[in-house]
Amino acid sequence: MVLVESYDLIIVGAGAAGLAAGIYGSRSGLKTLILEEKLAGGTTGDAPLVENYPGFASILGSELADKMLQHCKKTGAILHELEVVENLDLKGEKKTVKTNKTSYEAPAIIIATGAHYRTLDVKGEKEFKGKGVSYCGVCDGPFFKGKHVLVVGGGNSACITTLYLSGLAADVVVVHRREAFRAEDALVTDIASKGNVKVMWSTQVTEIKGDKIVKSIVLTNSKTGETSEVPVDGVFVQVGESPNSTQAIEAGVEPDESGHAIKIDIHQRTNIPGVFAAGDVTNHPVMQIGTAVGQGITAALEAYSYIRRPYYRKP
Ligand SMILES: Cc1cc2nc3c(=O)[nH]c(=O)nc-3n(C[C@H](O)[C@H](O)[C@H](O)COP(=O)(O)OP(=O)(O)OC[C@H]3O[C@@H](n4cnc5c(N)ncnc54)[C@H](O)[C@@H]3O)c2cc1C
Repeated sequence: MVLVESYDLIIVGAGAAGLAAGIYGSRSGLKTLILEEKLAGGTTGDAPLVENYPGFASILGSELADKMLQHCKKTGAILHELEVVENLDLKGEKKTVKTNKTSYEAPAIIIATGAHYRTLDVKGEKEFKGKGVSYCGVCDGPFFKGKHVLVVGGGNSACITTLYLSGLAADVVVVHRREAFRAEDALVTDIASKGNVKVMWSTQVTEIKGDKIVKSIVLTNSKTGETSEVPVDGVFVQVGESPNSTQAIEAGVEPDESGHAIKIDIHQRTNIPGVFAAGDVTNHPVMQIGTAVGQGITAALEAYSYIRRPYYRKP
């Protein structure tokens, strides 16, 4: 017989959202378990330098992640690192979480599994990640004030990033493998009006070059086969991000219209009573550390109300 450990609240994922939820869950008196498949910290730990998290004018991502982790542990939340959630059963009053080690149950669960940025998988991309290669315009754009940057992609994210960067960088080159953007008309019109933005259609990135930091990018025109090397200071890869939502969706959690991000209401509730979601895994329009923290806090306090207050509003 498999022994199932019982908790009040189980949080899947120990990034900014999960750790914030852990602090609030535990301080509210809930017996709180956080399950993390890697080491705690999530993508905050991947950010080379964070300059937009209130209270810290400039802090290494790894240092901020560690401060969140230590704070969370101090509140008494139980954290299991290197424990992978393999299956969720969310339908009953008790939600069951099966991991690679054992099984747990709780009346409330918070999905805080984050998202992963799609990569180009070209030579130099991994090597220069955080040294000129970025996946987040709002996070890293201000480091490139007055410099020459390049955006890869042609969807809404690429267009929004291009417009944001056009107000900071000296100039922006957009490289798109198709012959037209796949973005909202208003964004496309705005881009056309920017004097410092140049678009290269039918073009793919072949290699990112540099020494300690990015210096140039090699591009190939997919129609002519011609290659060119463009000097750049920064490369913003905007070819999409995928929420880590497969398990939750398979367990019956409703996604948004994209089919990937978990649909939440302003209380961080999903379509299943007792199941909440927070951070980059959700369809919240902003993917930042501050917003992940805010969502984690709301999710934990709403989970508390769900568990402890019989008059808690039902979805
Ligand atoms: C390179 C980079 C730089 C950035 N810079 C900034 C910045 O300067 N400022 C800013 O505000 N934002 C920045 N961001 C964005 C910010 O890091 C994220 O929006 C935020 O950290 C998301 O937090 P989260 O808790 O939702 O997800 P995550 O931090 O991704 O945490 C999710 C956690 O869930 C775990 N997990 C997933 N699946 C499972 C499973 N099945 N079982 C157990 N655990 C699981 C993951 O291992 C991960 O630790 C940056 C992002 C990147 C990638």
